[in-house]
Amino acid sequence: MLRFALRVGFRTPCFYRLSLLVAMTVSVVAASAQTPAPIPPSAPAPAPSAAVPVPPFATTKVADNVYVFRYGGHQSMFVVTPAGVLATDPIAYQRPQAAQAYIDEIRKITAAPIKYLVYSHHHYDHIAGGQPFKDAGAAVVAHRNARTRLEALKHPEVVLPDMIVDERSTLDLGGTRIDLVFVGRNHSDNSLVVFLPREKILFAVDFIPIQAVMFRDMSDGYLPDWLDSIDRVLALDWTTLIAGHPGPGGRMGTKDDARAVRDYLTDLSNATRELANQGKCYDEAMRTLKLPKYESWSGYAQFLPGNVERFCEYWARGI
Ligand SMILES: [Zn+2]
Repeated sequence: MLRFALRVGFRTPCFYRLSLLVAMTVSVVAASAQTPAPIPPSAPAPAPSAAVPVPPFATTKVADNVYVFRYGGHQSMFVVTPAGVLATDPIAYQRPQAAQAYIDEIRKITAAPIKYLVYSHHHYDHIAGGQPFKDAGAAVVAHRNARTRLEALKHPEVVLPDMIVDERSTLDLGGTRIDLVFVGRNHSDNSLVVFLPREKILFAVDFIPIQAVMFRDMSDGYLPDWLDSIDRVLALDWTTLIAGHPGPGGRMGTKDDARAVRDYLTDLSNATRELANQGKCYDEAMRTLKLPKYESWSGYAQFLPGNVERFCEYWARGI
């Protein structure tokens, strides 16, 4: 019910306000560890069949020179300057039309060359389909560990990086400073965040989801490094988080969202550790552990057991 209200909030200003209200309610409720408040009785609860179709892709301006391109359930950031464009993740895995739509959207805004294509991390659902960017003259940039993995995997849809970042790299593109920062291992061992200090915008993919639990068993996830990584992100001076998947109602994230993810992982870790010490990992812990504080988060019912499995590995087996 709650999730549906948030989804409707994506479409109309009226419901958007409702979604903000609900989101605020959730954060207050989360702090007091109770179950989420019901939607106010005055709010209509339309049947799922009443949903208005969401367009397959859309571009949103988030600052004078910064845009978000969404295709399906994935999104990327691009930065437009007089000297050229920096794009991120092509998000075109098994759908090459997404990369072409992405480039067409950029071309509606500027004729400046696409200079860079930055990979957030090496997972295909975000970075496959970069060939049209490469053909347009972009240099493909990734963390060193991403290149190592991609060179070994040689997936036909993935363009190998041309430029490597180790710890940090700063670009000055047409007067805009763009920092590419490795914030340690988290959801992968090669996540690069794109940080715009003047605009106070951060693009970070998959390791700080907005009001969502982690995907399945957090495979390729590094513990306990993940928590340190969130702290390193919080230490940067930003106010807007652009994630790899849209937040509830299509919203961007905030530092409170990053803190909420840190709290979620901490609560999950502590609760799983207790069960691990009682010999209840894996199966019983995966079946019985609940964290009602987060039950309104996307993926909670489906993926919480997988998230528990990952922490069972950590606490019960040292993996
Ligand atoms: Zn990923």
